[in-house]
Amino acid sequence: MAILHIYDVNVPEEEALLKKHSRPVEAVTPRIKTLLDDMYETMLDAAGVGLAAPQVGVLRRVVVIQIPDEKRINLINPVVVSKEGEQTGEEGCLSVPMLAGIVTRPMKVKVEALDENGQPVAVEGEGLLARALCHEIDHLDGVIYTDLATEMIEYSSEPEEPQDAEEPARRKKNRRKQH
Ligand SMILES: [Zn+2]
Repeated sequence: MAILHIYDVNVPEEEALLKKHSRPVEAVTPRIKTLLDDMYETMLDAAGVGLAAPQVGVLRRVVVIQIPDEKRINLINPVVVSKEGEQTGEEGCLSVPMLAGIVTRPMKVKVEALDENGQPVAVEGEGLLARALCHEIDHLDGVIYTDLATEMIEYSSEPEEPQDAEEPARRKKNRRKQH
């Protein structure tokens, strides 16, 4: 396995690729399995919960997700087939460093895809998994969550001293409305 370069929206050529549509995978070849493994290793290295192939510069409909304490999920040509409910919460992206945003997503989704062996799979996700599935599948259509966020939160590169005991010891810097 290998750790791949994660494309960053702050680099113009990389942003241009991140905004493109990815093509379906026609056959699950050893090359696709290697891509999945490399994406998984890259995601873990970056402490993410999901990664889509365009984020490593590959315009193919391939996604890997791992929510903490859950199994790794490999998805090839994933499609959201049903959505239920709504959740509004904070979301970040490995391709958008130092920012998070408030995004409304379905509370539950069902996704159909192929797995790493080319077999059809259905994944039902709720809460964080539903959010991750929607976020990663959006990447395959060139959609980045910042386009959907109602509010953005900036993080500084160094953790700041908490203002008081109530302030969580996180890197929250300030909030601004996105226009
Ligand atoms: Zn992302």
